[in-house]
Amino acid sequence: MRLVFMGPPGVGKGTQAKRLKTHFKIVHLSTGDILREEINTNTRLGGQAKTFMNDGQLVPDNLLLEMMNNRLRQDDCMEGYLLDGFPRTLPQAQGLDSILEDLNQSLDRAVNLTADSDELIRRLILRGQESGRDDDSPDVIRKRQQVYWDQTAPLIDYYRKQQILIEVNGIGEIAEITHRIIKSLT
Ligand code: AMP
Repeated sequence: MRLVFMGPPGVGKGTQAKRLKTHFKIVHLSTGDILREEINTNTRLGGQAKTFMNDGQLVPDNLLLEMMNNRLRQDDCMEGYLLDGFPRTLPQAQGLDSILEDLNQSLDRAVNLTADSDELIRRLILRGQESGRDDDSPDVIRKRQQVYWDQTAPLIDYYRKQQILIEVNGIGEIAEITHRIIKSLT
């Protein structure tokens, strides 16, 4: 199974993605996690990504596409994967489509987790107090929400047109939301 997982920052994408990975036994690829790892290990890509990330902006498309083009060709991805936080822009979605075409693969579903923006900002401010993530300060949180609505939300229509979009309510208990997603996929 090949899935794209979408939703505004703070909706619980990462938490749900980890649970689905276990359920479906597929690789979980979080571009946010991969980029944070690149920063921690001081790679060239990490150096290029850091300023954008700490400022709540998206890392440029060409860097993401190069990174994912390499990653999706690795052996562990041949049985399926769950993409968490990628694609985030239309050019990334189009780039992903050409990578997939080249690999003779296609996406099965794009899952969009939905939630009210005020509720998300409240949750993220709480998470920021606990996680110490550099991009979880209130100003950056508001900016990341704006970036999502401007640049990522258009992907909802993109996948709707491809007839693979599933929308799931992301508000509720963690286990209940996982159940909703699994039900919508089977
Ligand atoms: P996340 O952990 O998914 O919230 O991502 C944290 C940050 O990493 C984002 O605010 C972006 O700066 C960067 N990032 C992650 N995925 C992407 C992507 N697909 N395109 C551009 N930037 C990304």
